Amino acid sequence: MADDNGGSAGPTSKFGQCCEELKEAIAGEDFEPMINVGEDGILYMAVGLIELEDDEPGMVDHPVFFCPFCGTKVQDAEVVRAQITSEGELPQ
Ligand SMILES: [Zn+2]
Repeated sequence: MADDNGGSAGPTSKFGQCCEELKEAIAGEDFEPMINVGEDGILYMAVGLIELEDDEPGMVDHPVFFCPFCGTKVQDAEVVRAQITSEGELPQ
């Protein structure tokens, strides 16, 4: 795959700059991405499905601190933790 730094792919998120794999995984153009950036700007990865009371299964998300493809640190665990805690959405 050729490097093209001059492309106009629109506003790139702060994630996906370490490798094409992560970039494509987040973009999810041809599939439903299991990795996505939340409204809080945190990168999450779905680690599984959970059965809910209603029909559709829910995704269990977990913040990603290192790129699962190349191992680059993509966000700081302490920053993420502080942000999640401040929003009061930390389960348990
Ligand atoms: Zn990567």
